[in-house]
Amino acid sequence: MKTALIVVDVQNDFCEGGSLPVAGGAQVAADVARLLHERAAGGEAAPAYDHVVATKDHHVDPGDHWAREPDFVDSWPVHCRVGTEGEAFHPNLDPQPFDAIFLKGEHQAAYSGFEGTHDGRPLAQWLRDHEITRVDICGIATDHCVRATALDAAGEGFETTVLLDLCAGVAPETTEAALAAMREAGVGLAGD
Ligand SMILES: [Zn+2]
Repeated sequence: MKTALIVVDVQNDFCEGGSLPVAGGAQVAADVARLLHERAAGGEAAPAYDHVVATKDHHVDPGDHWAREPDFVDSWPVHCRVGTEGEAFHPNLDPQPFDAIFLKGEHQAAYSGFEGTHDGRPLAQWLRDHEITRVDICGIATDHCVRATALDAAGEGFETTVLLDLCAGVAPETTEAALAAMREAGVGLAGD
């Protein structure tokens, strides 16, 4: 049984100072970096992931996913535009030892990392090609892209756990709704 960690959308625009900031985003970046350093250092307490991958919101022209007057439900301020600093990983993540980075949403909204591809290969296929059966998920935002990624992971048949201590949510109500939906779908919630 092999396990992968999926780090969802820890990008500048989703952290403090970005165009669509989530409170606690920069802290998530730092905490994920610490976890990855512990993994790299090895030892008994080190997290034993066979692979660590990341996803990125990666927009060129995502249509009405961007809006001048966003409703913050289906439309959002311009964010994660390809070629901008906002699209880059948060510097707290540095260095970024990811085995693969899955880019999503070039021309449409794409909340789930499972809509992303790495060198043309979709995330689910990449995980199966690497014999992954279990995934841990962390990142930003609990109530949007983490939620969508976790629901897809469970739907694809992966044994799925969300690491809540390594996530940040936009709003309390939508985060609570996300936790309920994930629980309902059989997703494990660690640090709940
Ligand atoms: Zn987006």
